[in-house]
Amino acid sequence: MRPLPIRLRLTLWYGAIFAAAAVLLSLSSWWMLRHILKVTEYNELQERAEDVQLLFQRLGPGASLESLRAVVDENYKIKDDGKYLQIADENGQWIYRSPRLAEWNVQLRLARELPSHGVLEEVYHGTRDVRTLAYPITVNGRSYSVQTGLSLSKSKVLLATFGAQLLLLTPAVLILAAIGGHIMSRKALAPVAAIATMARRINDRSLDVRLPIPATNDEVSHLSETLNQMLERIESGVRSMREFTANAAHELRTPISLIRTEVEVALSFPREADEYRESCEQVQLEATRMTSLIQSLLMLARIDAGTEETRFAPLDAAQLVLLIGSKWKNSMDHALLDFSVIAPNEPVWILADLHSMQRLLTILIDNAMRYTPSGGSVELRAVQQDGVAILSVRDTGIGIAPEHLPRIFDRFYRVDRTRDGTSGGSGLGLALAKWIAEKHNTTLIVESEAGRGTCFRFEIPVVNVQAQIGVRSLSIAGFSSTTNAQIIHGDS
Ligand code: ADP
Repeated sequence: MRPLPIRLRLTLWYGAIFAAAAVLLSLSSWWMLRHILKVTEYNELQERAEDVQLLFQRLGPGASLESLRAVVDENYKIKDDGKYLQIADENGQWIYRSPRLAEWNVQLRLARELPSHGVLEEVYHGTRDVRTLAYPITVNGRSYSVQTGLSLSKSKVLLATFGAQLLLLTPAVLILAAIGGHIMSRKALAPVAAIATMARRINDRSLDVRLPIPATNDEVSHLSETLNQMLERIESGVRSMREFTANAAHELRTPISLIRTEVEVALSFPREADEYRESCEQVQLEATRMTSLIQSLLMLARIDAGTEETRFAPLDAAQLVLLIGSKWKNSMDHALLDFSVIAPNEPVWILADLHSMQRLLTILIDNAMRYTPSGGSVELRAVQQDGVAILSVRDTGIGIAPEHLPRIFDRFYRVDRTRDGTSGGSGLGLALAKWIAEKHNTTLIVESEAGRGTCFRFEIPVVNVQAQIGVRSLSIAGFSSTTNAQIIHGDS
């Protein structure tokens, strides 16, 4: 079954609670009135019994049964009140019996059988309904039982009228409660409706719009605030997605237009074989650059989608550094850089994803090579210190000015955009490197001085791996190495 709308539910709840309260109040008022009437009737009846007691006292201790009868007759027979009165002495002999009680043959218990506060009863006869009190009195050492009565017709009428009015009033109150509940729920939900109306207007082109926050500091204003915070996150996510797409398109446009121009120039008129070769080499260079750019873009896309996989396994950081170092040796020689790779002789086991670690070090070395002019030096180092492996790439290159340092890990950020056409950078390397470092629960620390050089380093805890596991030997993209080589030096 579909749940009822919240406004209807609020109205029903409000109505139900109000109805229960109204019924409870009506019942208790009716019961209280009945109780008050009964107490008043008792007091009245008790007073009458005590009046008889006073009358008997006035006659003194020697009063005979006959004198008592005479005085009661004299006082009560002609009075209307006497219609519900009967008095008996301690032996059960009647002193007075009003004609109506005698006719109805209402029995009266002996004084000694009655409790001190008397016995309250209701006597019905035909259409008449009488409340009686059989009350014991003691006069001059003798006990009497006095029964007085009151017609209940007045209180019955009073109670019935009161009940009828309550019965009439209760549904009216209920209807009023339902209407009130409906109006109140409408009022209470009005800010929610305003938020919903505003939220309906927000789409991917108007993500900067914010929902109204009522100045009530309640659940609704908190909801509005939370939704606004969510909108802010969505807006920034969509903005960075758009920027990413625009930047990616922009980055891909450069090598593609270079390839196009190169091919167009080559095809514009017949050329020598050497010239064609040169053009092909240029095209190959740009295609390689594009491939690496697309790889980075794909990796970032996988990172954003949360599908980039990392498999952590024990890894010898010393050997990894030596292997990567040997891979870069030729390129460094070619760039006329003094390249040194320093690693301890014994294994330094860390828990890492081999593929990601290779990528991280490759990004850092590639940057060091590209941003260090010929004649400079680059150092790749792994050391074990206080239970952690510290891996670093240091160069004596152009360095990074302090104002750029906080932004170099941003996607597509490049310090000098003008020279990147030639350096082959896309501004994605350090963003990937940072993500890889974070995946390994570490931080990529950069120290740099413009014109003097840069050092990137990160620390990973060393793990205890037993030598017999036999994972010491690594094979990375066709390279294999032994740990004997401790330092590789590239000639500058
Ligand atoms: P890019 O592909 O442009 O090198 P990165 O994200 O790897 O992109 O680096 C971002 C920017 O940081 C680079 O454009 C460069 O200006 C600066 N940078 C990175 N590494 C170095 C370095 N070793 N020396 C000087 N500048 C560097």
